Amino acid sequence: MENEAKRPANFIEDFVTQDLASGRFDHVHTRFPPEPNGYLHIGHCKALCVDFGIAQKFGGKCNLRFDDTNPTKEETAFVDGIQRDIEWLGYKWDKLYFASDFFDRLYEIAKDMIRRGVAYVDDQTPEQMRANRGTLTKPGVNSPYRDRSVEENLDLFERMKNGEFEEGSRVLRAKIDMANPNVLLRDPAMYRINRHSHHRTGDKWCIYPMYDFQHPVQDAIEGITHSLCSLEYEIHRPLYDWFVAQAGVTDQPPRQIEFARLNIERTVLSKRYLREFVSTGVVSGWDDPRMPTLVGMRRRGYTAAAIHDFLNRVGVAKSDSTVELSLLEHCVRAPLAETAPRAMAVIDPVKVVLTNWPEDKVDMLTIENHPDHPEFGSREVPFGRELYIEREDFMEEPVKKFFRLAPGKEVRLKGAYIIQCEDFVKDESGEIVELHCTVDMDSRSGSEGANRKVKGTLHWVSAADGVPCEHRLYEPLLAEDAPDVNAVEVDEDGETVEVPSGSILDRLNPNSLTVKQGFCESWIAKHEVGATFQFLRMGYFCKDPDSTADKPVFNRTVALKDTWAKVAGK
Ligand code: ATP
Ligand code: MG
Repeated sequence: MENEAKRPANFIEDFVTQDLASGRFDHVHTRFPPEPNGYLHIGHCKALCVDFGIAQKFGGKCNLRFDDTNPTKEETAFVDGIQRDIEWLGYKWDKLYFASDFFDRLYEIAKDMIRRGVAYVDDQTPEQMRANRGTLTKPGVNSPYRDRSVEENLDLFERMKNGEFEEGSRVLRAKIDMANPNVLLRDPAMYRINRHSHHRTGDKWCIYPMYDFQHPVQDAIEGITHSLCSLEYEIHRPLYDWFVAQAGVTDQPPRQIEFARLNIERTVLSKRYLREFVSTGVVSGWDDPRMPTLVGMRRRGYTAAAIHDFLNRVGVAKSDSTVELSLLEHCVRAPLAETAPRAMAVIDPVKVVLTNWPEDKVDMLTIENHPDHPEFGSREVPFGRELYIEREDFMEEPVKKFFRLAPGKEVRLKGAYIIQCEDFVKDESGEIVELHCTVDMDSRSGSEGANRKVKGTLHWVSAADGVPCEHRLYEPLLAEDAPDVNAVEVDEDGETVEVPSGSILDRLNPNSLTVKQGFCESWIAKHEVGATFQFLRMGYFCKDPDSTADKPVFNRTVALKDTWAKVAGK
């Protein structure tokens, strides 16, 4: 958070400063309003860091509000998961509210609007309503039910509430202007009928408020001063202000301010599609380490600090852009370089037999856990006749500049001896199954003979000590960057919908997950789930909850190569 104090104020902070100076508000109160129909992704995370961050910066408060107005997709498990995620990021909300806590109040406000002649029950079918809405260039057509009497409207609305009508047969609409150039102001729906059981109110209600009505009114009821949201809500702002004014619950109307959404290359940031990934089994669940959800990122080994660092660097802007994935990876990698112990694991093993090493001889080697942090200590690693190295570290016919193992070539085994490859064994399919090498007995690291230099150093795992383990390597879920994945609209539930052309399932990267069976040093296997390591040359890994006592599983958090730092010259 140190960077936080140093960076220049963003435009939202400027607006808030002006509002405090002009006396429009004498305090700051924001809210984060997720819909509990999925887990939070890093895009929500940006929104919540802005909401909580502005409150913190101005000594104000931030509410957590679940916008649970569509019972069809909402679940208590998501409510709990979202709270855990926010706490994990280190934020504390002021009040915890649910839109459903306000259903009675909203219903009364709607009735009051009917009495004042600014809301009516419409019997048109959804198709008729759509057809009569007009277009950007053509005004809409008034509904034949628009001029019903107040009494008839009150009666019908009550009967909607009492469950007398079918889903989709009637809605309550605001009476604004069917010719307004902003299509959203052409008598928007305020209530619709939905007969699903609600995760909190059960079957008490069968009518639910629409986002454009509920959201601003609830902001006003909660005493929100600044209602911060992503850019796609900009065209909804006149409607926001209209409903706040109609509700008449505050004489200090909240101010809606929009900021750019977070878009990341090859990353889907839309719950709708993430839900599809989960329901179709593209991923193992919301916490699959490939998911851009906080639960997924946490499982993969990303820390809250890395996510804050990333979002601070991205900043808050007024126009949309797409951030490079390598920046996120850079932010994840940089702190791990300091905190993750160095260890050895072989992801794709091939066996090495040291032919001149006596059968029962075991050397205990002392290897430090971090080259720059002596306080991390060291470990004893047994070195014997058989070990594993990485398959890609041997070439039968080495290409130029291949400084690893090849027939007749020498390499140093990290922290151990220099070996020379004498021979190899292939199976029937032609795959190499065993390498036969000799050891230079005088070359042990740290001893005098160790002064002899060879070009390549390989990581290795002792066959006697090594534990079988699984490595899961990840790539982005999307096959290639698809710019139109970032185009968004807001649907009637206030859900932002990304609009890719064609099915999202056609754009998946077939290599997003690679599973490899290898070996790791035994001391690594003993660590807790969530522990992170740098496996030499292979990247940073985090122990996964799928690990068993016999077989640890490691997720590659991020590879070692930092393409962003290179490009950005950092
Ligand atoms: P999604 O795009 O994932 O479907 P949503 O609008 O359905 O989002 P909500 O739970 O309503 O999901 O979102 C909570 C808040 O997070 C909203 O204020 C929304 O504007 C914001 N938000 C969602 N995605 C992003 C993003 N990519 N960048 C910034 N803010 C976002
Ligand atoms: Mg939403």
